[in-house]
Amino acid sequence: MELLKDPFGRILHYIRISVTDRCNFRCQYCMPKDGVLWIDHGRILRYEDLLFLCHVLKDMGAQKIRFTGGEPLVRKDFTLFLKKVREMFPSMTLSLTTNGSLLAPLAEDLLSLNLESINISLDTLNPERFKMITCTGSLSEVIQGIQSVAGRSKTKVKLNTVLMRGINDHEIPELLAFALKEDLLLRLIEFMPLDGGVWSKERFISADDIIQSLPESELWREEASEEAINAGPARYLINEATGQRLGIIAAVSHHFCASCNRLRITSEGEVLPCLFSGKGVEIRDALRSRDEEKTRQGIIKAIRQKPRRWLDIESGKEHMFRIGG
Ligand code: SAM
Ligand code: SF4
Repeated sequence: MELLKDPFGRILHYIRISVTDRCNFRCQYCMPKDGVLWIDHGRILRYEDLLFLCHVLKDMGAQKIRFTGGEPLVRKDFTLFLKKVREMFPSMTLSLTTNGSLLAPLAEDLLSLNLESINISLDTLNPERFKMITCTGSLSEVIQGIQSVAGRSKTKVKLNTVLMRGINDHEIPELLAFALKEDLLLRLIEFMPLDGGVWSKERFISADDIIQSLPESELWREEASEEAINAGPARYLINEATGQRLGIIAAVSHHFCASCNRLRITSEGEVLPCLFSGKGVEIRDALRSRDEEKTRQGIIKAIRQKPRRWLDIESGKEHMFRIGG
């Protein structure tokens, strides 16, 4: 029996686990502008709880786990934890989403873990603008982080750029050139209304408009590879002249819901049926008491609540650092 199948027949074998809500950046589009109320430490899942969660998920048929946050690399001993996950689940596809700022000193360790991909956020190549968007981040540290992992192993390194009209949309050519030079896949993400109040219709750029505004737009063709077809919210384009690939994450304007294969679990053990769900199903107590049946039932309950489309639910307007992106 397929335990991860939802009422609409979608199989949710791709799980995104947030390991912390803490972050060393305060990106305007992610964190509330009036200060952050962190989740109490006692409520955050311990590494042992997370290992047990991975075990239950694997038994239920999960094939891929992405660790995210907040910023996963600010959590103490995160790389040791990831090593343990790799040892315990050698066949699981593992990946990581990070802001890249703490990556350089951890690069060797992370690259030895045979991760499928490391996704790094990079919204601008301009140091002042970087500071303006992230409030506390340093562009040079992130570039160092990117270069410490790029092209050094089979682990794919992808850049995630949230595009905001009038803020960084004019930088698409530079970002494309940087990605081409470093041989990285750039993914342009639609700005989602999940922020601390900076989202507006004027700032939002749809995937279609992004594609229209690409330099040499006539050279970009929709990719027909199997990866592109099964990419969920991502559309992949390829430049016929250079062979460069580009991802466009149309999480808002295009309804990728029919092919959604994801389930999200927050750092305090709440299973979210959808990125836009206000409320999920709490499994922290079941995890802490190592109750396999209760944990499984909690996950199944959340799967049953998965909406057919995100438009069908009332958005909880949570901030992204809590959900895990
Ligand atoms: N700290 C890590 C990072 O920045 O990559 C991982 C967590 S972050 C919440 C995951 C992803 O969510 C990042 O790529 C970030 O750009 C994206 N994100 C956050 N808020 C967003 C928003 N309002 N709209 C679109 N993407 C957003
Ligand atoms: Fe931190 Fe990532 Fe949110 Fe930026 S997007 S504040 S780096 S969690």
